[in-house]
Amino acid sequence: MRYSGLRVIKEALTGHKGWKPTWRDATPQNHYDFLVIGGGGHGLATAYYLARNHGAKKIAVIEKGWIGGGNVGRNTTIVRSNYLLDGNEPFYEHSLKLWEGLEQDLNYNAMVSQRGILNLVHSDAQRDAFTRRGNAMILNGADADLMSTKDIQKRYPFLNVTDARFPIKGGLAQHRGGTVRHDAVAWGYARAADQLGVDIIQNCEVLGFRIESGKCLGVETSRGYIGASKVASCVAGSSGRLMAKAEMRLPIESHVLQAFVTEGLKPILPGVITFGAGHFYCSQSDKGGIVFGGDLDGYNSYAQRGNLPVVEDVCEGAMAIFPMLGRVRLLRMWGGIMDMSMDGSPIIDQTHIDSLYFNGGWCYGGFKATPASGWCYAHLLATDTPHEFATAFRFDRFAKGQNDR
Ligand SMILES: Cc1cc2nc3c(=O)[nH]c(=O)nc-3n(C[C@H](O)[C@H](O)[C@H](O)COP(=O)(O)OP(=O)(O)OC[C@H]3O[C@@H](n4cnc5c(N)ncnc54)[C@H](O)[C@@H]3O)c2cc1C
Repeated sequence: MRYSGLRVIKEALTGHKGWKPTWRDATPQNHYDFLVIGGGGHGLATAYYLARNHGAKKIAVIEKGWIGGGNVGRNTTIVRSNYLLDGNEPFYEHSLKLWEGLEQDLNYNAMVSQRGILNLVHSDAQRDAFTRRGNAMILNGADADLMSTKDIQKRYPFLNVTDARFPIKGGLAQHRGGTVRHDAVAWGYARAADQLGVDIIQNCEVLGFRIESGKCLGVETSRGYIGASKVASCVAGSSGRLMAKAEMRLPIESHVLQAFVTEGLKPILPGVITFGAGHFYCSQSDKGGIVFGGDLDGYNSYAQRGNLPVVEDVCEGAMAIFPMLGRVRLLRMWGGIMDMSMDGSPIIDQTHIDSLYFNGGWCYGGFKATPASGWCYAHLLATDTPHEFATAFRFDRFAKGQNDR
């Protein structure tokens, strides 16, 4: 069923009886060609691009909870491609281009909003660093704009640029960056994948891998054994815990990251803003809430909730640039589990176990990567060669000590 304005009118006039469930409630089959573990954004996008780009059949996504219950539905919705290093920038730019056409591709309103992102500069050294970054972005085909304090004052008149504790000395803007409604991305990919025949199996936890003579044959799940020609791990914050079941120890630690949303306000914040003298960033949702976050809780954890010291730190950052926020009431706060890799870049690679593949290490920036991650992981799974934009994201970089990622 295609969604369209006409369809909405027709359903409104006929009692909304024609809507169908967005995806089927699939029963696990005995064997699949591709079994993707993890129904987050990355797992669903992988399944979708496997079917769409590579014509793959017999694909399943297995999810221990529900679609959208992980980080894909917990993040602060920011998308951008303002990366510095050559191994990263083309990948994230590819992702931003995919975001730009995503709603037409999926026939789903994911509320892609290119409202722009601005990284504030508070010192001359920081301006040098951001100038370098902006040049690297432009060389890689992305957009970047070094804004003066005057330009910033014009666009964001509520920012105190002069007598603040951390005066604003300019900023690096990416006007094509912005926000996307996070759980709509999960639902959109799930629906589009389902329409291409992908089985989406919720409430099905992977409990172990069946590995014989160095080859992965399938997985033991809470709903029984499922065999597969290729098994693809894609569980973000649970990567360490899952791969330990295949006796793999990853260069990844799991940490909590918290996010916050205030009561709804009239439109005051036209884009995403990040503070440069601490870890704080914010935007305004379409419902009016100020959505913001900051640093990780600095200890290892698999809990989807955080602690108060980081709340204080984040609120200090907020007050440093937006003193007006001090009077706004906080509505909700929550946490997600981040798969922090040791060099801050992700991994999309085959493992040393035949037919077992790995996608993870997204740190706190994997939402923006969702389309490109699915695209490149599907390419790897279908062809057994890394996609040209993901050649830097392999396990062997840790053994070789490469530091250009
Ligand atoms: C508070 C917060 C703010 C963030 N803000 C941003 C942002 O603004 N921009 C940005 O780019 N990124 C952001 N991120 C990071 C981003 O959300 C993640 O990097 C990304 O969503 C991870 O990929 P995913 O969507 O596939 O993960 P998930 O949605 O977590 O998917 C993994 C799935 O695997 C499932 N799973 C785990 N173990 C098993 C098992 N054994 N069997 C079956 N299924 C299993 C989980 O239930 C989960 O649904 C933020 C994250 C958080 C928590």
